[in-house]
Amino acid sequence: MEGEMRAVVVRNQGDPSVLVPESVNIPKTSHNEVLVRVRGCALNHLDVWCRSSLPGVKLPIILGCDVAGEIVELGAGGSNLAIGDRVLVSPGLSCGTCTHCLAGDENLCRFYHILGAGRNGGYAEYVNVPAANCFVIPPNLNFQQAAAIPLVFVTAWHMLTSRAAIRLGETLLVVGGGSGVGSAAIQIGKLLHCHVIATVGNAEKAQLAKELGADEVINHSEQKIAAEVKRLTDKRGVDVVFEHVGPAVFADCLAALANNGRLVTCGATTGPTVEVDIPRLFMKHQSILGSIMGTKAELAHMMPFFASGQLMPVVDRVFALNDARAAHEYMEGRQQFGKIVLDPALN
Ligand code: ZN
Repeated sequence: MEGEMRAVVVRNQGDPSVLVPESVNIPKTSHNEVLVRVRGCALNHLDVWCRSSLPGVKLPIILGCDVAGEIVELGAGGSNLAIGDRVLVSPGLSCGTCTHCLAGDENLCRFYHILGAGRNGGYAEYVNVPAANCFVIPPNLNFQQAAAIPLVFVTAWHMLTSRAAIRLGETLLVVGGGSGVGSAAIQIGKLLHCHVIATVGNAEKAQLAKELGADEVINHSEQKIAAEVKRLTDKRGVDVVFEHVGPAVFADCLAALANNGRLVTCGATTGPTVEVDIPRLFMKHQSILGSIMGTKAELAHMMPFFASGQLMPVVDRVFALNDARAAHEYMEGRQQFGKIVLDPALN
């Protein structure tokens, strides 16, 4: 498709004021790709890091990992998709030929990169993506809801099912239950018939976490996590801790683990290093697990649960594409519950 489009292009890293809409060429649709007219693009903390300080980001770049929209052009190479299909886009991109990719573990590919971080993403009216990364949106979801799915749900699913190998009926502690990944983890925990304890930062979020299915809620701004977990589990602790915050809660989370417990982490928003009580770890037979993103197969596995309503994306607030700066400022204020979505159709 020829012509120009509006996009928010990061030309220099900095504060949210670097997010200014401009007019650029509509991207070319290469072999095995499709062109998607963006109808929703959800924000992630990765966007903030790419915008502000993450080293190695090739500038200029259009941010935006989580895209939903409609297909307006099919590149050569063919696929089962058609013009007009409503799709959401799996954000992970990889070589497709290494042993990790061939095994379906494309998140471990040495060439792995993420839409909106390693190549231009969805803060735009159009984006070109591999056809293989597109999943048809169930009819019960609108574009804004669909955009809120890919990164956080595939990350949470991979952490809980693949890494922590959570089993039916186990007890799960979800740290930061009001975040995007946290709101996904609460729902996945309940889908797997686990007893879910969520931590949140205020009473309003506590109510929302309960509405998502959390059995118990800890207000981490007022209560000590481990002490409260011990009280709620008759001193036993939890089988799995879902963590993505880092030093602010890490020691407390380890102290909340039961024997054979697994702490799985995908983030470190409060800093990069923590102390670990090693004797406690081995005496209690516990594991600390890292996890990065997830796979297209896992997203495919989850899609029926969105169609049935057993999993539901949580949209906190929608901003116009032109208001990407305000959306980032809002996200950095950490008041949201669930996902923040940009919609190019709003301006
Ligand atoms: Zn590969």
